[in-house]
Amino acid sequence: MVIFDTVTKKYKDNIIALEDITFRIDPGEFLFLVGPSGAGKSTIMRLLIREELPTSGTIFFNEIEVPKLTRRLLPAYRQKIGMVFQDIKLLNTKTLEENIEFALEILNKSQKEIEDTTDYLLDLVDLRDRRELFPYELSGGEQQRGAIARALANKPDFLVADEPTGNLDSENAMQILEILKTINKGGTTVMVISHDFNLLNGSNKDRTITLEEGKLSFDSDPREMTSDKEETEENTISSKVKSKKKTLPLSPEFNKLSPSLKKKLVQYALTSPEILINITTRELEDMKLSKKENTELAKFVKQYLSSIENE
Ligand code: ADP
Repeated sequence: MVIFDTVTKKYKDNIIALEDITFRIDPGEFLFLVGPSGAGKSTIMRLLIREELPTSGTIFFNEIEVPKLTRRLLPAYRQKIGMVFQDIKLLNTKTLEENIEFALEILNKSQKEIEDTTDYLLDLVDLRDRRELFPYELSGGEQQRGAIARALANKPDFLVADEPTGNLDSENAMQILEILKTINKGGTTVMVISHDFNLLNGSNKDRTITLEEGKLSFDSDPREMTSDKEETEENTISSKVKSKKKTLPLSPEFNKLSPSLKKKLVQYALTSPEILINITTRELEDMKLSKKENTELAKFVKQYLSSIENE
């Protein structure tokens, strides 16, 4: 799902935030990324959501090569990653329920879907009886659980929680971890970022990646590419992914489309219907489709939308 392939990130004044970082996260994993303050954890996050570009090396999210994503595709891309930050605040002018509904309204969900999903998410974080309260009426732990519910509104493939238990007492922290694990059991890949090694107490079964001074100092479950020192050029991760990309570039839903349209979808990294339906009119114009391709694409989107509506 996520690959960091020999990633180095230097900020201005030659500050090396990350050096030669390689790791792989598979779909459905639950893992911790830990390290002291300044170790480079947030930089990993910023590279993943393409807020920053690597100085060298590359990053893949599913089959998408993240540094190559064009700016106009970023909103659709970022929807695939749910994020919870210690300092992310629910909107104070809205109740907890309205905060979640608002996240769903932005995604143009139907009223019925908004209501059902909000109920489901409030149950998941055990806050159904707090739904009508404003954030300042909730405890710190409740606010953080509310933020998790909101981050899940767009059904992300990957949930990243950056210091989700900071400022919380150990009981509330454990409750947050339990919720994140429940979410993971539902199939979402979850990464918890923290400077607090105590969080790992009792979690020695979980994969842990440790960063120190920009270097990956420990991975409790290193994947083959990190241990294989004799990797040839042909065997590097990026070439593996690239060759995989050649044989499996698009979601199977696109199989029936014309070759010319498929080629454009690959070119613009619109590799799944979910990404495709989130592009804007301007992005579409940029693709410079022929009239025939335009009609074909419009027909596909219409069919796809009605198929998910019927699910
Ligand atoms: P962590 O999240 O583990 O605390 P960061 O990724 O925030 O670590 O920072 C890693 C290193 O990069 C630190 O030395 C920090 O000072 C530096 N750094 C982070 N962001 C910037 C930036 N925008 N410009 C310059 N240096 C930065």
